[in-house]
Amino acid sequence: MQAFEHVDAMTAREAVQLLATDPQARAIAGGTDLIPEMRLGVRCPDRLVNLKTIRDASGIQELDGYVQIGALTPLSDVAQHPLIQSKFPCLVQAILDAASPQIRNLATLGGNLCQDSRCWYFRGPFHCWLKGGTYCNAEHGDNRHQAIFGGGPCFTVHPSDPATALLALRARLGVIGLDGERNLSIAQFFVLPHDNHRSLNCLQPGEVLNRIDLPWPASGERAIFLKAMDRAAFSFALASIACVLKLEGERINSARVVLGGVAPIPWRANACERALIGQTLNDKTIKQAADLATRGARPLAMNGYKLPLVRALVERALDQLAS
Ligand SMILES: Cc1cc2nc3c(=O)[nH]c(=O)nc-3n(C[C@H](O)[C@H](O)[C@H](O)COP(=O)(O)OP(=O)(O)OC[C@H]3O[C@@H](n4cnc5c(N)ncnc54)[C@H](O)[C@@H]3O)c2cc1C
Repeated sequence: MQAFEHVDAMTAREAVQLLATDPQARAIAGGTDLIPEMRLGVRCPDRLVNLKTIRDASGIQELDGYVQIGALTPLSDVAQHPLIQSKFPCLVQAILDAASPQIRNLATLGGNLCQDSRCWYFRGPFHCWLKGGTYCNAEHGDNRHQAIFGGGPCFTVHPSDPATALLALRARLGVIGLDGERNLSIAQFFVLPHDNHRSLNCLQPGEVLNRIDLPWPASGERAIFLKAMDRAAFSFALASIACVLKLEGERINSARVVLGGVAPIPWRANACERALIGQTLNDKTIKQAADLATRGARPLAMNGYKLPLVRALVERALDQLAS
């Protein structure tokens, strides 16, 4: 591992200054993603800016119409908080399905949303497109875990489970940079890699994710998160779904269906959502919506299994929301 300087930031603005004055510097929160990357030589920062020392950057508070989660709040604290448990059980489920209890004690929600690709070509000794190379090694390589939606020039999938739930829950984010704080929807935060944008989110160099805001669920809202893994626990998603339906009587008034593990960003299943709105949750509607969840998918040579897997997850999620 390359030698590096370690600096404790006391405020978010100080962190931004420390990051902005050194292009090779990186923010560190729990370190559960960054330290292994540094060991592998995937990231070689010359300065680590510790965000955990920032005052008030961690914690959960109830505000007018929403809950605010500091980006430095450990995943386990989020999952154990009574407010989150009572109002956002689908986020709790997404967190409990992520990593292991030990990692969740260290890992922060902000770090989870900013974590790097888990693609084996990105983590391995390959100069893949996302690391600055000219092509995606996975496109014609071992692509069994890669994207079926939104792929090219990079076919990684986004590794975060909480991100899938937070997109379905309409989270808003606060990001601090040299020009102050900007607010954005979580949909704006995640950006497909393209042209020279070799990242899975919209953070500019030096910017720090400061908070995650969750609007209160509307009355009649039901939500669920389900994840398919290649073993029962401690594994990234082969595919996942977060689904939030708002019902008025028997009828679905609004639907947000987000798929994880299938695209470089959490992926809205738009056709599936449209098929649900205005319908009642019966077997026919559920089957039609599940079939539409893979509309537009472009599987690679080894990941065609994700299509029936996604359809089965959508069907199971809707079945459970109906009962
Ligand atoms: C064995 C293993 C299994 C895992 N399984 C899962 C899983 O199933 N599902 C899942 O969702 N995750 C999984 N993870 C990922 C884990 O959740 C992440 O490593 C963790 O959430 C990252 O948070 P952290 O605070 O440790 O981030 P760090 O490692 O400190 O940082 C990660 C990245 O984000 C940047 N960063 C961190 N905080 C901020 C911020 N506030 N603003 C701007 N940039 C920031 C850092 O510069 C770095 O690039 C797994 C990890 C491991 C090691």
